[in-house]
Amino acid sequence: MTDATILVLEDDPDIRGILTQLLRRQNYVVHVAASVREFDGVRVPLQPDLFILDVGLPDGDGFDVLRRLREEGDTPVIMLTGADTEVDRVLGLEFGADDYIGKPFSHREMLARVRNILRRSQMVQRVALAEGQDERIVVFGPFTLFLEQRRLARNGSEEVVLTSGEFALLSALAKSLNRPLTRDQILDATQNREWSPFDRSIDVLIGRLRRKLGDDPRNPRHLKTVRGIGYVLTSSE
Ligand code: CA
Repeated sequence: MTDATILVLEDDPDIRGILTQLLRRQNYVVHVAASVREFDGVRVPLQPDLFILDVGLPDGDGFDVLRRLREEGDTPVIMLTGADTEVDRVLGLEFGADDYIGKPFSHREMLARVRNILRRSQMVQRVALAEGQDERIVVFGPFTLFLEQRRLARNGSEEVVLTSGEFALLSALAKSLNRPLTRDQILDATQNREWSPFDRSIDVLIGRLRRKLGDDPRNPRHLKTVRGIGYVLTSSE
């Protein structure tokens, strides 16, 4: 995904320049904003695949920007923290940053983080439906999960009916396709939505989802148990 669009919010012109050069050399499409106002002016038309946000800005706070972005959607965010402090780390993760990196950063590390995050989010594809509507989908095996329409289809057209709890759990796992989620991460990802599970109910829901996906619980092909960690949804087959 080398032609991914990245929007950098950073008021320091030196760091802005370094990031732009570094990322453009990898064929990313890079846009920059020096203030929150500038950022808000371009982020919607640009539809970036990744945001890189500084924390201290002349007209605002990167964490406030992050919080607003999270209310709107799941586009990945890397926080660029002034110092790699515990407070910044905790705040960033709490507000839903996908990663954070302290300044000064090593170029190699920055590129590795960007690549990883884009690879992860690439599993969620944007498709245009009729009526000019955007829809985000995740494809795994014969299944297509429609994140906005909140439905699951098998072989393109066959509907698989899900309860809202099953949908919440499946979409959390689908957004992290091929990457295991711990039970805590599953709880986090499904909280504050219209449905909030308690610990034990995850196993019950996993069992129901496996039945609906046609998975053999002793040897599941799609929704696998990762011993000692949690669960993973796999894209194979
Ligand atoms: Ca700054």
